[in-house]
Amino acid sequence: MTESTARFVLEPEAIGVLERYGIPYPRHGLARSPEEAARIANDLGYPVVLKVVSPDVVHKSDAGGVVVGVGDGKLVRTAYERISDGVQAAVPRARIEGVLVCEQAPEGFEVIVGGLDDPAFGPIVMFGLGGIFTEVHKDVAFRIAPLDRRDAEDMVREIEAYPLLTGARGQPSYDLNAAADLLLSVSRLLMEHREIVELDLNPVRLYHKGLLVLDARIAASDVG
Ligand code: ADP
Ligand code: MG
Repeated sequence: MTESTARFVLEPEAIGVLERYGIPYPRHGLARSPEEAARIANDLGYPVVLKVVSPDVVHKSDAGGVVVGVGDGKLVRTAYERISDGVQAAVPRARIEGVLVCEQAPEGFEVIVGGLDDPAFGPIVMFGLGGIFTEVHKDVAFRIAPLDRRDAEDMVREIEAYPLLTGARGQPSYDLNAAADLLLSVSRLLMEHREIVELDLNPVRLYHKGLLVLDARIAASDVG
């Protein structure tokens, strides 16, 4: 975070912002009890992913706050308890608002999309490889918002891993149009919500057709 007055918005609220910009996130529901989590999972279909919703937990996995591949209602209830207990142990006195139950997304090619409000340049959009590649290779592209379509397409082509995106070894290309659309949507979102000081979509899974944002972290300043 770049400002002491900034706060992280809870993930359900962050997802709501994404949805208003047509940015796809897996189907989900917020559960306040193990039983409610199981009911939501039954509606979504299995497997599901459970994730803690807490204003005191920024990196959910690190705090034991994410369980993937949950296969039935009984396991959902167990996973809910495991998350509550694990997060309380990792972050004493953490306030737990509930658990987000999400449809489990298929495997895909993971990238990250970020945004920040630079004191000198204003909103900036970032695109890069996901996972350990971000930290190790720093394979990222930046543009000052607002982006036009050409900027967005250039960003996608600019990263070193671009050949992997176009489909190595005779594989079909990932949906690079969808990636460019996402960058444009994030650009618009940042321009229209200047209270957002930082945005982190990590990971975003690219498919041969379409994409899904699997994690949305937004920090907003309290003023305004
Ligand atoms: P955090 O980054 O706070 O630890 P994430 O929401 O990114 O939490 O979840 C951690 C990991 O769990 C993700 O990197 C992804 O691999 C996996 N994951 C999260 N949500 C889903 C989902 N809906 N479907 C499949 N995998 C998921
Ligand atoms: Mg994440």
